[in-house]
Amino acid sequence: MTRILVTGGAGYIGSHTCVELLNAGYDVVVLDNLSNSSVEALQRVEALTAKKLTFIEGDIRDAACLDQVFASHLIDAVIHFAGLKAVGESQQIPLAYFENNVTGSLSLVQAMQRAGVYRLVFSSSATVYGEMNPSPYQETMPTGMPSNNYGYTKLVVEQMLEKAALADEKWSIALLRYFNPVGAHQSGQIGEDPQGIPNNLMPYLTQVAVGRRPLLSIFGNDYPTQDGTCERDFIHVVDLAKAHVLAIQNRLNNVGCRAWNIGTGNAISVQQIKDTFEQVNGVEIPFEYAPRRAGDLASFYADPSRAQQELGWHAELTLEDMLRDSWNWQKQNPKGYQS
Ligand code: NAD
Ligand code: UDP
Repeated sequence: MTRILVTGGAGYIGSHTCVELLNAGYDVVVLDNLSNSSVEALQRVEALTAKKLTFIEGDIRDAACLDQVFASHLIDAVIHFAGLKAVGESQQIPLAYFENNVTGSLSLVQAMQRAGVYRLVFSSSATVYGEMNPSPYQETMPTGMPSNNYGYTKLVVEQMLEKAALADEKWSIALLRYFNPVGAHQSGQIGEDPQGIPNNLMPYLTQVAVGRRPLLSIFGNDYPTQDGTCERDFIHVVDLAKAHVLAIQNRLNNVGCRAWNIGTGNAISVQQIKDTFEQVNGVEIPFEYAPRRAGDLASFYADPSRAQQELGWHAELTLEDMLRDSWNWQKQNPKGYQS
C-alpha cells in the first residue's frame, strides 16, 4: 500500500487531506508538533473514515526525529503542510517564520534525500504572485514580491524546491498554490480551529455568528471592486484536500517541479461572503465597515485551468456549500476541539 507522510496533518487543511487520503486507500503517517492543532482532530479523522492512521508528535526541524520517522515507516511520498501561517504575526516575529517554514522545509527535504524519498507535495500560496501580477493569476506568470514575511517564506521554499529539482532529476515536487481555503468537512466533525482571535475572515465571521465576538469588521469598503470590499477566490477545504490526492497520484508518475493553482477562478467579495452567509444559514451577522487592513490587495483570483488539464482537478463545491459547512462546524463545536 502506498504510504504518505503528512507533516502538519493535525491542522486545518491537513486533517481534511488525511480524510481524503484514507478514503482513497492510502496509508497515512502524520508528523505534527501540535503547536496549532489538537490530536482530537486526528481521532475524528479516524472515526469519520473508520480507518487508522499513525500519529507521531514531532517537529520538522528535528533531523533525528525525521530520520527515525523515515527509518521506521516505508514512506513513498510526503505532503508538507507543517508551518506557521499568521500573516500579521509574521511581521512581528519574522525570524520564527523563517525558522519554522524555511529551515523546517529544508530540514524535511534533507531528511527525504537521506531516506531516498523524492516525491513531495508542498503547501504554497497565491501570495507568491505578489502585488504586480493581474488576476486571474496563471502559473506561467513570474512570482512577485509578497506583501508580508509569511509570503516570503513560501516564495523562498518554492525557489529552494525548484532548484533542488533542477539539480537532481530524482525529485518530483508539486507546488500547490492555494487561494483562500474555507469550509469544513460536511459532517461538521473537523474544521478550522484557530487559537486566539482569528485573523482570517471566515473563522472570525463564524465566531461572530456563534456569539463569541460582537461584530465583524469589514476591512475597507472603498476598494476599486464591484461593491468596494476586497475580493478573494474562496475554495472549499474538501475540494482543496482532494487536489492533494490527485497531486500525489501525479507525482508518483512524473518527475520535476511543477506549480498548480488551487482555486475556483471566482472572485467573491467580503460583503458577498457576509450577505450570502446570512441568507444560507439564516443567521444575522452584526458588522461595521472599518479602515483597510495594511497589506491587503483589492482583488485576486486563480486561473485554475492547469490543475484541470494536468491533475484532472476542479472545484466542485459552491459558495453556499462553503458557508453552510463552515457554520455547521462552528455551530457543532462552538469552542473548536475544546468543546
Ligand atoms: P494549521 O496551522 O491548521 O496547520 C499547520 C499544522 O502544522 C498544525 O497542525 C501545526 O501544529 C503544525 N506545525 C507547525 N509548525 C510545525 C513544525 N515545526 N513541526 C511540525 N508541525 C508543525 O494551518 P493550515 O491552514 O492547515 O495550513 C496548512 C499549510 O497550508 C501551511 O503550510 C499554510 O501556510 C498553508 N496555507 C494555508 C492557507 C490558509 O489560508 N489556511 C493558505 C495558503 C497556504
Ligand atoms: N477581512 C475582513 N475582516 C476580518 C478578516 C478579514 O474584512 O475580520 C477581509 C480581509 O481584509 C481580506 C479578506 O477578508 O480582504 C480575506 O482575508 P483573510 O485574512 O481571510 O485572507 P487573505 O486573503 O488575507 O489571505
